[in-house]
Amino acid sequence: MKLIYPFFVKFLSKLSSSTLTFGFLFLTSFSMAQNYPVKPVTIVVPFAAGGPTDAVARMIAVPMTQFLGQTVIVENTVGAGGTIGANRVAKANPDGYMIFLHHVGMSTAPALYPKLPYDPVNDFEFIGQVVDVPLTLIARKNIPANNFKELEAYLKKNQEKVTMGNAGPGAVSQLCSMLFTNKMGIKLTEVPYKGTGPAMTDLLGGTIDIMCDQTTNTVANIRADKVKVFGTTTLKRLKSLPNIPTLDEQGFKGFEVVAWHGLYAPKGTPPAVMEKLNAALKNALANSEIKARLADLSVEEASAENVSASGLKKQLESEIKRWTPIIKAAGVTAD
Ligand code: ASP
Repeated sequence: MKLIYPFFVKFLSKLSSSTLTFGFLFLTSFSMAQNYPVKPVTIVVPFAAGGPTDAVARMIAVPMTQFLGQTVIVENTVGAGGTIGANRVAKANPDGYMIFLHHVGMSTAPALYPKLPYDPVNDFEFIGQVVDVPLTLIARKNIPANNFKELEAYLKKNQEKVTMGNAGPGAVSQLCSMLFTNKMGIKLTEVPYKGTGPAMTDLLGGTIDIMCDQTTNTVANIRADKVKVFGTTTLKRLKSLPNIPTLDEQGFKGFEVVAWHGLYAPKGTPPAVMEKLNAALKNALANSEIKARLADLSVEEASAENVSASGLKKQLESEIKRWTPIIKAAGVTAD
């Protein structure tokens, strides 16, 4: 011991204090990642509570809580079509305690917002793709049209006064509105909300006329006959709404919009944390209760291959490539 001690002191004094600090921080963050999570984990949803993305987040939060042994909380950071929430998570501490659920809007925002304050591909780590959510074209119950042809005639005749609700540029409801009105060759008054949860409340009350919205928010109201439905945005009819024709089969050939959702973490989140979060997501999607609820809403869980970092990254990159030229051609920008 007598011999070793001076040797050890000499060795330490040779190491610069910055090397020691680095080593200490490395070991601390390594052991923090191993013990993760030791406190509640927040899923940021970039749209209002009570809406479709919020519904998916709250659905997976329950089995994720059980799997992680810590409460998974959902927090709504709303505005600017989901980009405020995305920017918050992009700048958050990469320790796994703040993660992010977003949909196809992650891939449309770069084309819509020339001054986007974050990079969707390089400012995030990828936990995995979650679900694919179809949309439905719905209207207030008393709109004077009973099928797609009548709706088309009504909208063309009343363009100036018809209002279409959506959640702003970056929201999938807005993407769908844009594609739908362009295809029909009409211009309606868009009413932007902080999410389609509150937009639905207004549609049910008759304040706005029509909306394109995800099945996670519309199926219950369609079944309860509280809204009129004029089509789905899928190429095949939905299993849980088999009597509703697709827009494609009603003449809008190839009309397809899917709100694929992904789960992200800030760039730099340790690999051990990412692995735990991915395992928690896989576990949630394997839960039979969740599977039944998703099926009832015609929501498809992502393929096993896509519930992974590489699967989600590939999906995001290919969707950016797909939507950027379409949005540029439509000439739509948010700022
Ligand atoms: N997903 C959004 C929401 O949860 C709305 C949208 O993207 O259209 O409200």
